[in-house]
Amino acid sequence: MKFFTSTKFPLFMLSAFILSGCSSKILYELPYEFRFPEKKNEFLNKYSAFISGKKIFLDPGHGGKDRNNKGYEGTAVEADINLNVALALRDYLKEAGARVFMSREKDSTVDLKVRSIMANISGADIFISIHHNAPGREGDYWTNYTSTYYHALEKNYEFEPCERDIAKFVQRDLAYAMRNSGGLGSFDGTYSDYIIYPGEGFSVLRLTVIPSILVECGFTTNEYESQRLNISEFNKIEAWGIFRGLCRYFAAGVPEIKYISGTIIFTDADSAAFFSLLDSSGIDTSSVKVQLDSAETDSYSFYPETGILMVNINGIKPGDHIIRIICKNLNGNHSFPFNQNIFIKDVIKP
Ligand SMILES: [Zn+2]
Repeated sequence: MKFFTSTKFPLFMLSAFILSGCSSKILYELPYEFRFPEKKNEFLNKYSAFISGKKIFLDPGHGGKDRNNKGYEGTAVEADINLNVALALRDYLKEAGARVFMSREKDSTVDLKVRSIMANISGADIFISIHHNAPGREGDYWTNYTSTYYHALEKNYEFEPCERDIAKFVQRDLAYAMRNSGGLGSFDGTYSDYIIYPGEGFSVLRLTVIPSILVECGFTTNEYESQRLNISEFNKIEAWGIFRGLCRYFAAGVPEIKYISGTIIFTDADSAAFFSLLDSSGIDTSSVKVQLDSAETDSYSFYPETGILMVNINGIKPGDHIIRIICKNLNGNHSFPFNQNIFIKDVIKP
């Protein structure tokens, strides 16, 4: 794909360009908030309220011994570019009051499984793995797009719709910041990782239990993209895109589900467990989904005025069970993964 030529892009649009080869020019667009510092402050003031206190785990892909992806003619090392973007993103998140964890902060080797374990024990709200892409076939120096992955397919039990929500927000603002499209393999630039590894997906997304996404910002193998990716200001633009997406995701709210503990009620006829489903925008009543031991059940009642969900557990065998609940708020964001273990006592009737 030929990205830019000076004849197609008027001069006033150029914020930076580099001569590449004899005639091609590489450029990128400075985000509005980079051009006008007061606009950056305005953005931070507006969105800090939503992202402040959130815990974000950043995973710059590869690094250390894993420096195999070297990009176009060996000029764009993916491991280093991932780290540059992640460090800039860390700074934006911290500036906005978020707490940031990282799988690596320098060029070091971190095992794939260890990255997920670190994320799972960190207490973070969201995991973001940062990568740059390469095409499947040798010698392709023209493919380039921006994509964001979530785990599994909608029909799979492992699928968590909140991951696709996060992916959508991040993808939109990242692709816009880079002025890349999302590719033709997806309508909105988000993809299931089962497209790459059917039935398994990416290890970091499968093994990370907190909501997780993986961004493939651009192709290091693309002749033009590889040059932008080596410019630290451009890495900051990528980071800003991801940051904006996250801010806007949290501004749309995430429904909070809680188990009202000790509420299993036993009578001769009824046993029920109670939960609260709350969101400042309101809960989309039609979105409430309840699974009991991985099978969907419609044996529940939801009372939107109070946010109380009553799940009937009549006739369930005594012992351990899992109730999984998913719902969506009126802005379209789904709840984080919610699985409640319940223990049903053997009721001895008098
Ligand atoms: Zn990678």
